[in-house]
Amino acid sequence: MVEGYNKNITSSDSKPTPDRQSSELTTWIRSLQQALTVEVDHGFINIQGRTNKFSNFVTGYLLSGPSTAVNEFDFSRLQELALDYEKYQTMSTDDRRKIIVQTRQALHTLFKYKEGEERAEPNKLKIRRSQESTLHKRSSSAYSLSLQSTISSVKGVGSKQAERLSTLGLILIRDLINYFPRDYVDYSSLKTIDKTQAGQNVTIVAKVRRCSSFKSPKNPNLAILELFIKDKTGGMKITRFFAGRRSSSIAYVKSQQSLYPVGATVAVSGLVKESKYGKSLNDPLIEIIDSPNDYLKSRTIGQILPVYSLTEGITADKFRDLIQSILYLTSNIKDPLPKETLNRLDLPNRKEAFFHIHNPENSMTLAKAKRRIVFDEFLLLQLSLLLRRDLHKKSDSPQLSIEPNINSLVGKFLSILPFSLTNAQRRVLKEIESDIVKAEPMSRLLQGDVGSGKTVIAISALLTAVQSGWQGAFMAPTEVLASQHFQTLSKWIPQLEINVDLLTGSTPKSRRKQILTDLVNGSTKILVGTHALFEDPVVFERLGLVVVDEQHRFGVKQRNKLLNKGLQPHLLTMTATPIPRTLALTLHGDLDVSQLDELPPGRTPINTQLISPNEKKYAYDLIRSEIKKGHQIYVVLPLIEESEKLELSSAVDVHYQLSTEIFSEFNVELLHGKMKSVEKQEVIQNFINKKSDILVSTTVIEVGVDVPNASVMLIEDSDRFGLAQLHQLRGRVGRGASKSYCLLSHQNKNKLSRQRLDVLVNSNDGFEISEIDLRFRGPGQVLGTKQSGLPDFALASLADDADVLEIARKEARIILDSDPLLSNNSMLRLSIKEQWDRLKIGNKLN
Ligand code: ADP
Ligand code: MG
Repeated sequence: MVEGYNKNITSSDSKPTPDRQSSELTTWIRSLQQALTVEVDHGFINIQGRTNKFSNFVTGYLLSGPSTAVNEFDFSRLQELALDYEKYQTMSTDDRRKIIVQTRQALHTLFKYKEGEERAEPNKLKIRRSQESTLHKRSSSAYSLSLQSTISSVKGVGSKQAERLSTLGLILIRDLINYFPRDYVDYSSLKTIDKTQAGQNVTIVAKVRRCSSFKSPKNPNLAILELFIKDKTGGMKITRFFAGRRSSSIAYVKSQQSLYPVGATVAVSGLVKESKYGKSLNDPLIEIIDSPNDYLKSRTIGQILPVYSLTEGITADKFRDLIQSILYLTSNIKDPLPKETLNRLDLPNRKEAFFHIHNPENSMTLAKAKRRIVFDEFLLLQLSLLLRRDLHKKSDSPQLSIEPNINSLVGKFLSILPFSLTNAQRRVLKEIESDIVKAEPMSRLLQGDVGSGKTVIAISALLTAVQSGWQGAFMAPTEVLASQHFQTLSKWIPQLEINVDLLTGSTPKSRRKQILTDLVNGSTKILVGTHALFEDPVVFERLGLVVVDEQHRFGVKQRNKLLNKGLQPHLLTMTATPIPRTLALTLHGDLDVSQLDELPPGRTPINTQLISPNEKKYAYDLIRSEIKKGHQIYVVLPLIEESEKLELSSAVDVHYQLSTEIFSEFNVELLHGKMKSVEKQEVIQNFINKKSDILVSTTVIEVGVDVPNASVMLIEDSDRFGLAQLHQLRGRVGRGASKSYCLLSHQNKNKLSRQRLDVLVNSNDGFEISEIDLRFRGPGQVLGTKQSGLPDFALASLADDADVLEIARKEARIILDSDPLLSNNSMLRLSIKEQWDRLKIGNKLN
């Protein structure tokens, strides 16, 4: 056990003074140095600490950094090192020694920098801050307000202003408090002039050296006041502009000039600009400081100013003042979480959080405030999802039995497969089996990259249900995919001797009737289908298990529909659009998650390339040569019909051009969503049977089509697709043993979209890709539909706050474990309901 491994940064409620910050930083550096020394002393063995190996500890330690900010110090070197430590375990002793030496050097640099910072500390400013306590006093004034009071009852708010505010949805005072700034301007960084840089918001304390005023040479309605200020490190220009008839009169500007006598000390906050004439601030906030011991009168200079989204007729200053004037009421906000929990999670209490989000003292209190509010948003959501999940688990479900022998249906099925299961498949199957033998319904999400072999899992699970005397349903989002699954199943039917049927929207009426009869009398064991399957007249005799493939393409409502059918069958949902864990937890927080994180052996990675418009010939040549080798080709297009607006090639046109001009020697067929189901089937069958060489298609082939002989996919207008979808599409090739290509044709217009596509060139990992997609496009887009069912959080961001979500999830579990129905926690119960109402997610979430 090694003491140096204990990250020992104490947090405290008291304000961090510079001295304190510096000693915290010193502690941070020292603890790491100590850990390095211990490792060196033990001869670079990656020593095991109390909870962590040395290298893991260092990685985490470096990545999280010191808890106090170190202005402008570039931490990227330390972060690079952090990543190097991830490989420490596999490094030679020599390399281990080297990286430790480098780390010590980097720490030394940081230490020196910190000392330099402390010496060059700029003048101090005395800023009077609104404190909760001082604000609180106002509540005893003549009018007494509460969080429930209307905004119009605040003194000084007229009916006109109240009306304008109501267009922002702000009616009660609590609405104001819940109206979070969309951004902040941070003037809290107090700098000497030599340390300022263009583009920074800063506060400077300096002396006036010169002051002059003049009319703008270009604009007669503009007068300009110019100050030159200096501190002991340098000088800079300050320009103030006076526009309008009255203000731009030279007499008025002269009077302003007299406010800034040479020699006076000023505090200024603004954005630094730099030109060939040197640094300057344009129209900064500015105040004369009479004596260094005086408090500033300004409530803005040197502070972090919240910036709100406003509507016409409400100025930023007015709104800020309004918020400040009611902020004392945050002291009435109650906290549903006990102190112990807050201490354990290092979160401020709720009233502080709301106070500081509008009135941050420094970047640290702001970060903490945000974290608390984000935490609450996530916590409430997770609580409701888990409550729902627990409730669902309480309902009865068919209890299936597992017969792990070769004569069982599953045993037979696995033995006739031409391959053996991957370890991941085996593990997932075990996870499913251990769920379905219980008397509570399974709700499990199986995430697995394209081609990871989910279908085999689905079939095994269905056969387990059949074996135990129940029926199974296998639901797919498109007819193409449903019939593909049906065919896959049909391959094994003769050996398994069970009845399987296919029901889709285009099943003829008479056939449908027969199918339904066979379902009710129990002779059909597995029904494969599209969501037509779940329209009301479909009744199973004994439905034991429902498998939903490509879960992300179903509306959540459909998922609900099938769950609501009488008794609770076990549910297995599967998705190849591996949504990032943050999204999964938010959207399916009520599901258990299994992961197929291993592809079957023998796949060659797909060679993915970007194709600019003038590289089309290269693409066509590659296609031609692949067809000559006996392979087949997909050409994928985003839309069916010509859309003038988007100038996208339509499938019909492209098919025409390819089949008559470019590839007239080959057989080119067309597949799109508007074709009749029989036509679609025929086209796909032709492709499967190698009767066609090129399949021009819209995204209907996104899921399910399995033709291992296809070796090239050309995706037109690929910049129109999301990354996750492109990855999914790409999964249609690379299913055989031969080398395959994915060509991403794009319009070459926009650098960002090329960068986005580059992600696919560089990564084959569906999880990584969807994580990046989330950053590029945001959650709504990633999920593809507007009604993605995602709650619209006020502050939390699914892309940025993943860590808080995890913590909230854990906490929700802890809370419910000790109080399953929240019967002892009415405040949380109420908050959940309030969030539910506010987000209006009740019928969307599942
Ligand atoms: P997805 O997870 O995308 O639905 P599929 O279930 O369609 O993937 O499987 C892709 C291909 O891999 C299919 O041709 C399937 O037969 C094959 N496959 C599945 N599991 C294995 C395995 N363990 N070994 C070899 N091939 C497998
Ligand atoms: Mg599949």
